[in-house]
Formats: sequence, C-alpha cells, structure tokens
Amino acid sequence: MGKSEDLGVSEEAKERQSFVMNTEANRLASFKDWPFDENCNCMPSKMAAAGFYHCPTAQEPDLVRCFMCFKELDGWEPTDDPMLEHKSHAPKCAFVNKKKDEKDMTVAEFFKLEAIRQQNRLMNHVENRIKEFTYEAEKTRKQIEELKNQ
Ligand SMILES: [Zn+2]
Repeated sequence: MGKSEDLGVSEEAKERQSFVMNTEANRLASFKDWPFDENCNCMPSKMAAAGFYHCPTAQEPDLVRCFMCFKELDGWEPTDDPMLEHKSHAPKCAFVNKKKDEKDMTVAEFFKLEAIRQQNRLMNHVENRIKEFTYEAEKTRKQIEELKNQ
C-alpha cells in the first residue's frame, strides 16, 4: 500500500503548507533549512521574491514550489536565477506575469491573483487525484494479470 498512502498524506500536508504562502514573508520563512547561502544567485530572498517556497523531501532537499502555479523545481545550481527559472519552466504563471510587486498591489489586485491561485490549487488537486487513481488502476491491472497467469 505504501506508495499511494504516502502520496495521500503528503498531498494533504502540501495543501496546508501552501495556503499561507501567498505572502513573500511567509515564503522567505520557509527557507530556514535551504542548502544554499546568501552568496549565490538562488539565495532565500530571491527565491521568495520569485514566488517559491521551500518544501524539501528526503530525496529532494532543494525542492521548491510556486505558491501560484504550484510548479515544483529542484536540482538548483548556485548560479541559477530564481525568477528566470520560474519564467522558463512556467511561462503562463500569473505570478510570473504580474505587473506589480506585492507591496505595490491594491487589495483588489491581490485578491484577483488569489482567485487565480485557488483555481490552480483545485486543478492541481484534481490532477494529483487522477495520478493516484491511474497508479492504483495500473497496480490492480497487474494483480489481475498475475492471478490469470497462476
Ligand atoms: Zn508559478
């Protein structure tokens, strides 16, 4: 059962964490165990300003996720520019394409982005459920095949 249960738990934890990541301050606070220091391009302040928060796993200690489009990136190099990486991997992201910094936005502009984020969140949730279902279906299909061959 391991794999799909693990996925289920981590998806819930991901959603809880992601909810408060719509402010740069909360994203910045997530980088306390970030494996890069302030002397490189992918320093925490630039990562947070580019929309990313840190969500490490045992296998991916430098995994980050965009709070807006939920794109996940790992395998960072000290020379990587966070905003350029975000733009090249998620060119349609509403955060990447915003016209103003968070501090210059009106409340209405902030909530317009928040509405887009919630739509993305739901789509992301549905896509993850489809992946889990596909994984379970494939596993069950294999079990049926094994039974047939006995
Ligand atoms: Zn994004």
